Amino acid sequence: MNITIALAGNPNSGKTTLFNALTGSNQYVGNWPGVTVERKEARFQLGDDETLLVDLPGVYSLSPYTIEENITRHFIAQHRPDVVLNIVDATNLERNLYLTLQLMELERPMVIALNLIDEVEKRGGKIDCARLSAAMGVPVVPISAKKRQGFDELFQKLHGQAHAAVVPHPLEQYDDSTRRAVKELIVAMGGASAHSVFDAEEHYEHRDDRHRDDDHDSSAPHAHIGGYADEGDKDQAPPTAWVALKLLEGDQTIAQAAYLTPDQKHSIERAVRDYEARGREKYPGIDSLTLLADCRYGVIERVLKEAKVEKKVTSQDEISARIDKIMTHKYLAFPIFLVIMGVMFFLAFGPVGSFLTDGMDLLISEHLTGWVGAGLSAVSAPEWVRSLVLDGVIAGVGGVLTFLPQILIIFLFLSVLEDSGYMSRAAFITDRLLRKLGLSGRSFIPMLVGFGCTTTAVMSARGVENDRDRRMTIMLTPFMSCGAKLPVYGLFTAAFFPGASYLVVFSLYLLGMAVMVVCGLLLRKVTFKEGDTPFLMELPPYRIPAVKNVARRLWDRAKDFLTRAGTLIFAMSVLIWFLKSFSFSFQMVSDPEQSIFGVIGQAVAPVFSVMGFGEWRKIVALLSGLVAKEAVVSTMMVLYSASDNAMLASMLPNFFTPLSAYSFLVFTLLYIPCVSAVAAMRRELGSWKYTLQAMAMQLITAGFRDRVDHWVGDRGAGGRDPDPARAGFCAHQGHVGL
Ligand code: GDP
Ligand code: MG
Repeated sequence: MNITIALAGNPNSGKTTLFNALTGSNQYVGNWPGVTVERKEARFQLGDDETLLVDLPGVYSLSPYTIEENITRHFIAQHRPDVVLNIVDATNLERNLYLTLQLMELERPMVIALNLIDEVEKRGGKIDCARLSAAMGVPVVPISAKKRQGFDELFQKLHGQAHAAVVPHPLEQYDDSTRRAVKELIVAMGGASAHSVFDAEEHYEHRDDRHRDDDHDSSAPHAHIGGYADEGDKDQAPPTAWVALKLLEGDQTIAQAAYLTPDQKHSIERAVRDYEARGREKYPGIDSLTLLADCRYGVIERVLKEAKVEKKVTSQDEISARIDKIMTHKYLAFPIFLVIMGVMFFLAFGPVGSFLTDGMDLLISEHLTGWVGAGLSAVSAPEWVRSLVLDGVIAGVGGVLTFLPQILIIFLFLSVLEDSGYMSRAAFITDRLLRKLGLSGRSFIPMLVGFGCTTTAVMSARGVENDRDRRMTIMLTPFMSCGAKLPVYGLFTAAFFPGASYLVVFSLYLLGMAVMVVCGLLLRKVTFKEGDTPFLMELPPYRIPAVKNVARRLWDRAKDFLTRAGTLIFAMSVLIWFLKSFSFSFQMVSDPEQSIFGVIGQAVAPVFSVMGFGEWRKIVALLSGLVAKEAVVSTMMVLYSASDNAMLASMLPNFFTPLSAYSFLVFTLLYIPCVSAVAAMRRELGSWKYTLQAMAMQLITAGFRDRVDHWVGDRGAGGRDPDPARAGFCAHQGHVGL
């Protein structure tokens, strides 16, 4: 007899090791049709059977979201191997059995190879395989792929299953509500031969009948439900109950491949809705996908209890569990999260941060400017060189560098939180909130990265597997205030809200998140309407952060910031200096209003007054922010001819009231991200349509701020911007003794 064995399991469960150990060197390596996922197979003799062993890609689940998952489930469901060899990591039974149950749902004869058993024994653990086997209803063989132990029994069981062909029925162990839903779905699809919905011929013959042929031939060609290209090999009927389970999960790949009549679709929808309604009596707001995951984990828990597999609890796990009682507490978790974030901003923008920033400012403006100025005088450099170096480069680049300490404090904090394991908890806590937006805790990670850099965040959204979630995450991350905006916040809060800097900055971050939530809800109503994915994550134990990891991340951040200051901000400062120091006839002018910038700026000012910024320097500063957000500060330094931060801060009240300053910060928070972020968004979204939609969303919210601003202003809470002329300020005089 010719038999086919499919090897399936989680990544890192030892699949490759076992495959190599079983087959030696006679492997054939190719690709799965149409995709670049490796397909390995090997032939060997099992007793008197010619055996083909096919290595399936490593997966955690059989959802339709990745190519690997699609290949694995398609191969087992529609190519029907004689035996499924499920390799399970014995040191991580609970998670591995989640896949095992889903493989069992595919109703093929199975053998479970309990790998890494040597590792379990080394840790002093023990697993009773006979009990586990009885509880699962599938033979379980303890093996060590690495030490080549247990292979004889494994071969014996594989041979036995291939000939006896005992098919598992995990549904028998599922809860009543789930079984009832599956039954209803099968009836909705047309009874026992429900898999006939994938048979085109059957569909055309009976297209007007409500009921289909019960003597349906399941080995006749069926519609392909792989979710990836397959080169026309014979696809058989997938198991009926499995199809029902997938429809219950809301699996679109399957729903689309089936030939369902409107009537059938309607009944299916109703069964799914009823299932959710039953589940919501216990878990409010839950969806069918999560309910099924919960049902499977319920079975696993029972099986592990029956098999008397004790979870080895280490002291580290115990401590973590105790900390988590508080950190992930139903009501306390979110306030704790906010307090932690508040402390971070207090450190960065409160006394500690401003002390360090003042130190940097002193270093740059007093010492560096002094030395360089003296040096230039000593070599009697021409006036324009002096102006370029002191008013252009040092003012611009130095103005941004001043904020390095504050940025480092923020990132020191974030990296300690990440390395300690708290960030996973934060993802867990925010999962409920994000779920309301149709996203999951998975999107929290890119959003968190968004606090650092929007470009990086957009790229890290690749980790969000569901395409719709990924798109939405990308479009929303720009609302997470990026690190490059910190210098702008630092400058303005020091000038206008010295006592409450950190509160103001915190409020901006919170505002960004609030706007994100509103836009997320809108996107969900308008652009992305369907589907949810469950979020299953393991919480790693709490750890004392490793100095090496934290230092590494901090250094990466600092390097990134310094590189940008040295290149992009440097170039911008020189350009801005040139445009504000020279007129159209390339004459150096002392009054910036006659400069190239002054002339253009004043010409376009009326357009921008719609946005609430009549004064041209503010507009130019914001425009330069499109290249890099830090440039808002460096441009202001150059345009207002300030030699250092303290001086610029003391000049700003001539141009802003506290209210309009806050409004300016809100605009900076919300308007279009820098060009590199926009380019990354375009690339990752793969469409201008979504990219432009995201940009429009940002501009509209930023513009909306102006309306609120007017409304507050008109109620006498601060009024419009002061008139610089009336304040007796003349920018071209340079130094003002305010
Ligand atoms: P795959 O991702 O499922 O292909 O897993 P690999 O075969 O690459 O194995 C992952 C890791 O587990 C490797 O470091 C293997 O050496 C190790 N490993 C595999 N099987 C065993 C085993 O039985 N015992 C021990 N101690 N280690 C194993
Ligand atoms: Mg491998």
